[in-house]
Amino acid sequence: MANAPDKPVGRRGFLSKAAAGTAALVATPRIGSSEPEKLVANEQDQGHQNPPSDVALRVKALESILVEKGMVDPATIDAVIETYESKVGPRNGARVVARAWVDPAYRKRLLADGTATIAELGYGGSQGEHMVVVENTPTVHNLVVCTLCSCYPWPVLGLPPTWYKSAPYRSRAVIDPRGVLREFGVALSDDVQVRVWDSTAEIRYLVLPERPAGTDGMTEEALAALVTRDAMVGVAKVSVRSGAAT
Ligand code: FE
Repeated sequence: MANAPDKPVGRRGFLSKAAAGTAALVATPRIGSSEPEKLVANEQDQGHQNPPSDVALRVKALESILVEKGMVDPATIDAVIETYESKVGPRNGARVVARAWVDPAYRKRLLADGTATIAELGYGGSQGEHMVVVENTPTVHNLVVCTLCSCYPWPVLGLPPTWYKSAPYRSRAVIDPRGVLREFGVALSDDVQVRVWDSTAEIRYLVLPERPAGTDGMTEEALAALVTRDAMVGVAKVSVRSGAAT
């Protein structure tokens, strides 16, 4: 094998290995885990010889046919994936949240018109989706889900985590949101109202978390560093010790 033992297999490498039946897709939709999902197996994992998923094989088959017929350019596909993997992501959302915490006028506009106010910082949807920002308060906690599939505010949060797309999260977030939140480590008292927002292709939600205590005087940049992806989905709170996980 050409790759060093600990070097992750690149997307294209993964696809070619998937076609050969040697790659392992080890997505682990564990609710409550804040660890980054491991979607692509490394060489060590391949020792387990897990078969590629049906989805991975179908994607590879479709891509192969489209490339063969000259309908798509592999470099273009890679560029799109690269954009969503490294250029858009939760740091964008964190900047929106931090701005709202330090600028009351921005916060007011953000809650009134999420799409336009997020766009003020240069983040916009490529799919024409409408952004709605919902604010957590001492008495209201917001939780975002897509019960149908995996609709997610890509421009501000990047690619959705595996657990967000998992059937258990999509169903249980609606049936038992407090239980799901407990599994993520968020214990809410009974007097806190939980609001669950079901995303669609047209409307995507972003949670504006509560600004944590002990952050008076922090710069906007330092505040943004505290804001995690999970907090903006509503499965975590922001604390002075959070951040850097995403
Ligand atoms: Fe969806």
